[in-house]
Amino acid sequence: MHSETWSRDIARRVYGLEHSIRGDVLDIDEDGYLVIRLGDRSLRIRDLVKQFGFDLTYIRILPLISRAMMLVYETFNELIKATGYKGLLLPVYPMKVNPIPVVVESIFKYGEKYKWGFNTGSLGELQLLVSLAEKYSPRTLIYDGVFTEKVVEFLLKLHKLGWRVIVDVESEHDAEIVEKYPELEVGIRVKPITKPHGKWSDSAGLSSKFGLTMNTLIKIMDDFKWLKSRTVLLHMHPGSQISRFSDVRTYVKELRSVYEELLELGFENISMVDPGGGLAYPYLDVRDSEEESPDYSVIDYARLLISEFSKNHRNPDLVFEGGRFIVASHRILVTKVIDVRPYSAVKYKESTNTLHEYAEKIRSIRDAKTFLSRVRELLGELRSISEKDVKIRELYEDLIALVEDEISQRVSALLLTGDISISDVLGDNSILRIMTSPSKRFVLNMSIFADIPDSVLVDQYFQVIPVQGLNRQPEVLASLADITCDSMGEISHYISPGNLLNTRKPILTTVDSKLVAIPGTKLKLRGVPLTLPVKNEDYYIAILDTGAYQDTLAMKHNLIYGAPEIVIDVDEEGVSIRVVRNGEIRV
Ligand SMILES: *Cc1c(COP(=O)(O)O)cnc(C)c1O
Repeated sequence: MHSETWSRDIARRVYGLEHSIRGDVLDIDEDGYLVIRLGDRSLRIRDLVKQFGFDLTYIRILPLISRAMMLVYETFNELIKATGYKGLLLPVYPMKVNPIPVVVESIFKYGEKYKWGFNTGSLGELQLLVSLAEKYSPRTLIYDGVFTEKVVEFLLKLHKLGWRVIVDVESEHDAEIVEKYPELEVGIRVKPITKPHGKWSDSAGLSSKFGLTMNTLIKIMDDFKWLKSRTVLLHMHPGSQISRFSDVRTYVKELRSVYEELLELGFENISMVDPGGGLAYPYLDVRDSEEESPDYSVIDYARLLISEFSKNHRNPDLVFEGGRFIVASHRILVTKVIDVRPYSAVKYKESTNTLHEYAEKIRSIRDAKTFLSRVRELLGELRSISEKDVKIRELYEDLIALVEDEISQRVSALLLTGDISISDVLGDNSILRIMTSPSKRFVLNMSIFADIPDSVLVDQYFQVIPVQGLNRQPEVLASLADITCDSMGEISHYISPGNLLNTRKPILTTVDSKLVAIPGTKLKLRGVPLTLPVKNEDYYIAILDTGAYQDTLAMKHNLIYGAPEIVIDVDEEGVSIRVVRNGEIRV
């Protein structure tokens, strides 16, 4: 009557460590600790954090940035070679995805051998770029922000350092300024009509913020006769994180047709096509086209672009402008659990026995449903009295928790004996809800607003994983509350990729009898599967893939923000670990 035996392999799958970008850099060691593997070094995350005494830290694994860059570069170039495509790959890094100096320097440093350039759209980012540029070889810059003379001053500084500077003209105002500076090359940014699915679909379409509509372009082209011959780049951007390959395909077709239209209009010198960002990062690597798990890889993406532009005999150079894909994996947030609270602390144990006797009689999913609806009816009456009487209210709260507990215990037992089937549970929403709901709330020493703002801004999914105890079967489902006084500061969903499991039986938590995973099915849980900290144990939780956008969108809600960082890199002498302390206000 046991559920599937827990193993390191199951843990790797349940916690999303089977991953095409991170590879085996994040792994679980023999003793169940989450480790960072670099070369022959294996660093336990828990030891690292304890060594520096941090309750919250961002671990930046810079070699993960290098891995992603190499993956993109080699994928494109192998396909270019294999297909005989005549154009080149021109990679640039869009700074807005993460413009903090350590990330930008990594792009410079690791990008030396690929001549990785930059895409930027603000004066601040430009100033940072200029301050770092002298240390490295010159690159290409695609500037797509609003234009001012001050911006031009910095663009010209880069040009003096030997950079190739291409500026997008998006209005008559831009054209008037660019006209005066012949050293700047010109790009044309066109609004895509294709609107991909997902959270960033407003980046595309005729009313989107950036780019020209074709009719405006034709007007500007008539007013500024030099534009046609000076334009070297066609630039479009479909929005971030396009999870469906069919959307990418439609978009790339549109890109080619715009390219060919511009050639026909007389933009003879366009030699580069820039499809912008959009290449989706697998926050969960199960390839099913949901927002967190795109149904395609960088290989599919590169192959599509190359094959589409092979149809034009000019074979233009292809710009790669993905940023999320390059930097998302490099930042891991590690936070200490400072409290574990039950959803309900049952006091009236006497009520347990009778309830338990009834629950024992449950033999099927129908019995379970009948039981649930009967007690709920009774509880409904109790609830109305409970508003006036504290004692009754306690009893009411007890009963709610007890009923759910009895149902979880009974249904999980019957699931394992086979008396209740997986499809029975999946087919009944009220029972499924109980089986996937947390019984504990872990309080984390972090602020969701400051540390993973996209979790509240766009409901972004981030992989959560405990850094210890991974050799033990999870004991409970727990929601994760932060220390802000805001009800939005809570993580109460977990996507369990059972479709990656080849076990036979479902996996259940050992203490609260909830579902952890169902083989063959991707399951949405309302809490994270975790083991319970033992008394006085320092217990930490990691949140992965927080390297894109989160650093700059961070909020200061409740004045809880700022975290010290552990920056990990590899050089000739091996692994280096550097600590950067920020000002911080925490509990
Ligand atoms: C934001 C942005 C990107 C980055 O897109 P991701 O898909 O998030 O990597 C690329 N190009 C432009 C023009 C952008 O504005």
